Amino acid sequence: MPPPSSSLMGHRWSRYYLYTTREVPGDAEVVSHRLMARAGMIKKLAAGIYTYAPLARRTIGKLEAIVRAEMEKAGGVELLMPAIQPASLWQESGRWEQYGKELLRIRDRHQRDFCFGPTHEEVVTDLVRGDVKSYRQLPILLYQIQTKFRDEVRPRFGLMRGREFLMKDAYSFHTSEESLRETYELVCRAYRGIFDACRLDYTMVEADTGSIGGSSSHEFMVLASTGESAVVSCRACGYAANVEKAEAPKSAAQAAAGGGADELRQVATPGLRTIGEVSKALGLEPRELVKTLLYEADGKPVAVAVRGDHEVNEIKLQNALAATEVRLADDAAVERATGAPTGFLGPVGLAPDVPLWADHAARGLASFGCGANRADAHYVGAQWGRDAEPTAWADLRLVRGGDPCPRCGATLEESRGIEVGHTFMLGVKYSAAMGAGFTDERGATHPLIMGCYGLGLGRTMAAAIEQNHDEHGIIWPLPLAPFQVLLVSLNPNDEAVRRQSDELYDALCARGVEVLYDDRDERPGVKFNDADLVGIPIRLVVGGKSLARGEVELSLRRDREKHAIPVAEAVTKTLESLSPLEG
Ligand code: ATP
Ligand code: MG
Repeated sequence: MPPPSSSLMGHRWSRYYLYTTREVPGDAEVVSHRLMARAGMIKKLAAGIYTYAPLARRTIGKLEAIVRAEMEKAGGVELLMPAIQPASLWQESGRWEQYGKELLRIRDRHQRDFCFGPTHEEVVTDLVRGDVKSYRQLPILLYQIQTKFRDEVRPRFGLMRGREFLMKDAYSFHTSEESLRETYELVCRAYRGIFDACRLDYTMVEADTGSIGGSSSHEFMVLASTGESAVVSCRACGYAANVEKAEAPKSAAQAAAGGGADELRQVATPGLRTIGEVSKALGLEPRELVKTLLYEADGKPVAVAVRGDHEVNEIKLQNALAATEVRLADDAAVERATGAPTGFLGPVGLAPDVPLWADHAARGLASFGCGANRADAHYVGAQWGRDAEPTAWADLRLVRGGDPCPRCGATLEESRGIEVGHTFMLGVKYSAAMGAGFTDERGATHPLIMGCYGLGLGRTMAAAIEQNHDEHGIIWPLPLAPFQVLLVSLNPNDEAVRRQSDELYDALCARGVEVLYDDRDERPGVKFNDADLVGIPIRLVVGGKSLARGEVELSLRRDREKHAIPVAEAVTKTLESLSPLEG
């Protein structure tokens, strides 16, 4: 039997670096953040910047191994690119201007601009354009596991939305859309493999492509009430999408009732700005009103009209306008652009130089109530065509649970999720901008067709805790557990207990079991509380009284049921209880 010190499998808590605490950080809003902090797994250095203490590092190591195994199965090849990237590459792709404040920009001693990579499309495209020339070298799937930096507006939830975080990012290069789709499928299968291996309850949904760009995109969402993303899904046909992306049904025919009258008439509505107030005053349902908001798209005013009971989806709006940034105009800007105060805008008689984008669902209204573009007045009986005509119709509204499914018409359900992975069919966005091409069989040159695939390791670890905990602490699924077995010596000063515990520790380590050995000189109560908090799946307790009967105690963290077993069977029984958890 090898001496314990030569084993990589085990650690004695007394010599390990693990300090639990009762203190919950003031900014810990979600359970995974609270538990990771209390279990001594993470330590905050600055907003959104954390040290992964040894326990967290071990779990991340498990996750890395799972990710690598699945990515290699999908044909991925691992590399490691620099975290610091020259601005020139981002200028080539056009993102130096576009990416905004999340990009941490750095200047070196020669006054040259760099950034700390938030993602690596530019760097990988630069790499590949240097090496790949011919269709014969394609397809390629490259991946890395690396630290990213994004200067998030609101870093929060611990590792879930950090500024510095670990990501597995992958990039693929192809000669055709078909080849891209094949690899895309393989990576999505790898992602399913990864989240299955982590025992997570997740779903794959259609997603917006955001600042990364491209044509098609999916997100992997771990279902949790604390998730920052809202997801709608249809039980009937399986459609599932992030609400940022979810399409409204095409038919504008979900016509609401008419707006009460068919003659356009102005009504005094002094001080009434909200849909609720206006609806009451006009005697119309919110769905019989048209709500008009003023946005600034890349600084230019655009009016947006949706039905009174709907909300604007700003991502759809940004995409429809092909804008880099859209934001709601402030009161002063509303007055300046329209001559009317906020709350009284409408499609009828809107300032002619302000384009009006209207949502398809508003089109279904035979007549409607709306703001009159002057203070304290609304119209009733307005009609499209006769009284107002938008610049363009588009799908601009936020889809919610209860809305009809855009595919089959059944009712959508809404849930919350944590986005742990994101896949994109990029197309030629980066390769065309950066001149990364290949020659085909006939010697003609084309831009490489690309895909990219991200997965957050810290966020996945946090998501696993969101789904696996109780009031006492973390309950690690075995594949992510920092250690498999927690061996607790209840009376380390009792010679017999110490000797027996040491023996079990050596024996388990020798069998390849990852053991954390709580040999600390602490009260049993402290040890049991820490054991529950840290959440190692299997617990083996050696105490003076039971040892005198020739017994130790085995329990699983998940059910905390204690089983007395003969000392002689401790190792076998521990191994036996590991295997179903592995299965
Ligand atoms: P979000 O919408 O949550 O900001 P994103 O769309 O910006 O995410 P991607 O650019 O697709 O994220 O990044 C890929 C993966 O990296 C995400 O699915 C997530 O797991 C992880 N990730 C992104 N931002 C963060 C962050 N601030 N902290 C931790 N993990 C992150
Ligand atoms: Mg983001």
